[in-house]
Amino acid sequence: MTQRRPLIAANWKMNGSCELAVQCCETLSQLPASNTEILICPPVIFLNDFPKSDRYQLGAQNVSSEVSGAFTGEISADMLAAAGASYVIIGHSERRALFGDTDTLVLAKTKRAIAAKMTPIVCFGETLTERQQEKTMQVLAQHLDAVYAAHPELLQHSVIAYEPIWAIGTGETASPAQAQAVHAFIRTYLKKYDDAAASKVRIIYGGSVNAENCAALFAQPDIDGGLVGGASLKPAEFAAICLSA
Ligand code: PEP
Repeated sequence: MTQRRPLIAANWKMNGSCELAVQCCETLSQLPASNTEILICPPVIFLNDFPKSDRYQLGAQNVSSEVSGAFTGEISADMLAAAGASYVIIGHSERRALFGDTDTLVLAKTKRAIAAKMTPIVCFGETLTERQQEKTMQVLAQHLDAVYAAHPELLQHSVIAYEPIWAIGTGETASPAQAQAVHAFIRTYLKKYDDAAASKVRIIYGGSVNAENCAALFAQPDIDGGLVGGASLKPAEFAAICLSA
């Protein structure tokens, strides 16, 4: 069986402060050494001065699809990498819904991130209506195809996040069995692009993960960690989630 290193990623969204960064560093630095990889994705303004620790890495929540030039307000992959980001979240449902991140843009951003030697965490998930209509797998297959069909070589450099949209920030979590079923589907589906990479790719779960529900989710065979929003803003709770992976 392929051993995949667990990844617990904090998505601060547009929250946090320098003080929270310091608290987070103090709390996470006290965690015992383990195989779990910990990642913090704060708002990009905090990246440069985020206290450093060998206990966690830093990432960004978005990246420009362009290399450089007249793109006011955008930040390039090379700039993020220079500021200390080793990962970048791409295609989060909030970006898809609120900022027009289409599958085409998600693919372009994924390529840019990898070219800058960052690991993209590419997010996919279905709406509540799609789930109720039993279209979850169909919707995911379409989105996965949009990124990986023409570029299967990107898979070996990616982390996939399964984030059911109905579970993000709602307090409603997919049950461990529901999440496992989708993670297993994604892994099997990805085999058609690159069998070895599909076995190795980490598929993390996001959607109201907290200290109470995380252990049962992370115990599932195809759930390789979590993308944590709200609970990542509470250092003690986030540390507990990291410990349970
Ligand atoms: C997220 O932001 O990706 C997320 C899953 O948020 P929350 O944990 O708050 O649902």
